[in-house]
Amino acid sequence: MNLKIKLKTFSFALNKTLTTSQGKLNEKKGWLIKIEDDNNRIGWGEVAPVNNEEIAQCETILTRITSHIQKQEIEQKLIYWPKSLRFGFGAALAEIDCIIGSDSKDGWLKAPKSAFLLDSQDSIIEQVSYLAGEFQAKNEILTLKLKVGLKSNNQEEKIVEKLLKLLPSNSRLRLDVNGGWEFNQAKAWASKLKDEPRLEWIEQPLPTEDIDGLMKLSKLIPIALDESLIHNPDLIKTWKGWQVRRPLLEGDPRLLLEELVNGTKFRMISTSFETGIGRRWIEHLAALQNKGPTPTAPGLAPGWSPKTNLFSSKPELVWKAA
Ligand SMILES: [Mg+2]
Repeated sequence: MNLKIKLKTFSFALNKTLTTSQGKLNEKKGWLIKIEDDNNRIGWGEVAPVNNEEIAQCETILTRITSHIQKQEIEQKLIYWPKSLRFGFGAALAEIDCIIGSDSKDGWLKAPKSAFLLDSQDSIIEQVSYLAGEFQAKNEILTLKLKVGLKSNNQEEKIVEKLLKLLPSNSRLRLDVNGGWEFNQAKAWASKLKDEPRLEWIEQPLPTEDIDGLMKLSKLIPIALDESLIHNPDLIKTWKGWQVRRPLLEGDPRLLLEELVNGTKFRMISTSFETGIGRRWIEHLAALQNKGPTPTAPGLAPGWSPKTNLFSSKPELVWKAA
């Protein structure tokens, strides 16, 4: 099948800078992809790598792609491309094939309520006490994700203690360390929090490669892998606990879609700050997760992205706004 390919670059600044133990993120840039087949069916994709090396690799490949190409040729090349590029083309092809999207069985599904993303720049305690009150009044479950590994251990222990005093009994708290702890430090946190029912998991407490340490910790407390899964995708098949899945960074989304359709347990869908085109996938996958055996709030980072047409759920508007 003949495909017509169009590309467009985009960039945007986040509403606030995300600080993690691995560095700062305040802008995103990448490419939007529009693919049209012989039957005028359209598929949309987004390529948004977070590291400069991958941006350069994607750029090299994208400048070589011709505007008319056979579908089979893309499918064959795709598996050798960087993960973010595999997402972009895999997403567009899935839409053309009606595996997802408005011509598919379910249409685009909308995401359930997201977890709130907090980092050290927020006035955390004030913000949480407001959210706790609001959610309690509505009798809804509040899920919070706190970035840690940024301040001294002592300061962060105090912050978490204060948060736990504020959080209603049905809330959930995730601590995201982004690989910033030592084993003994992580073990001390795990021992302290292991009987805390509101602690949903500790996310990536140790560096990506320390699978042995992460396994040991997972015997004490639920451990979610995030960066380790990008670094070593084989873990997707072997890690039995929670997996934070960031579709735009992990490769061809048709694989994750299949996992969720098949009701695989302990997947959590997380944003990597996408435009409206990538966002449709995040929302759809999060909705499927929510229908599965272990529903949990997705990480959509509400309030972090600007409110312009670049974030519209209509791909034509996103395309125009880029
Ligand atoms: Mg994380």
